[in-house]
Amino acid sequence: MPKAVRPGPSPPKPARAKARKRRARPNPARVDEIFRRLAAERPEPKGELEYVNPYTLLVAVVLSAQATDAGVNKATRGLFKAADSPKKMVALGLVEVEQRIKTIGLYRNKAKNVIALSEKLIAEHGGQVPREREALEALPGVGRKTANVVLNIAFGEPTMAVDTHVFRVAHRLELAAGKTPLEVELGLLKVIPDKYMRHAHHWLILHGRYICQARKPRCDQCVVCDLCNSADKWFDCGPPQYGRAIEAQP
Ligand code: SF4
Repeated sequence: MPKAVRPGPSPPKPARAKARKRRARPNPARVDEIFRRLAAERPEPKGELEYVNPYTLLVAVVLSAQATDAGVNKATRGLFKAADSPKKMVALGLVEVEQRIKTIGLYRNKAKNVIALSEKLIAEHGGQVPREREALEALPGVGRKTANVVLNIAFGEPTMAVDTHVFRVAHRLELAAGKTPLEVELGLLKVIPDKYMRHAHHWLILHGRYICQARKPRCDQCVVCDLCNSADKWFDCGPPQYGRAIEAQP
């Protein structure tokens, strides 16, 4: 009777190969070059939400969930003139806050959160915005992303808030993989060089908002085009050129 032949190792299944690719750490030189260019393009990146102090920044970010920055700014200009501190916001009252932000989606719930978080700031933090993540996330309407934005912009902490733009750009540029914003956040924190962390959040958001757009990425205007291997890239920008000069935006 012929001897049974043991099958050799099976070739990697596509799903496993894909998972391995997902876990592969991005090349540090390529990551450094991507951020060097994004930094050269926008040396002083700024968010687009308007605010006058950490408290109004916090409120603006809470209001910006599922709304555009422009829409939020339109409503907050008047609101912050009337109330730029927790005490003044509580004095303004729920109905008045609702009136002033009613052009923003989900305004009733957001107004409730703004009043509740203002009361909590007065009761537990002397009317100041806390600098600790845990304390921020304990405020009504404040999740991890909002806390990350406030820690980064108001306090200069090297945090990474992952919104839809950052999520998309991180995947297209193979900076971080993951199915959730938290996975992508942790992946980005691992690979972005410390020297870029202060502004990395803004660079990725602005790149996603204006260049690497969801439906039609503007690859022909992208400063990191030659470093991008995304299937969504449609423009042939040649092989990677490390050290390429980039002009700052006016
Ligand atoms: S080349 Fe295109 S897909 Fe790649 S990062 Fe630039 S804009 Fe996005």
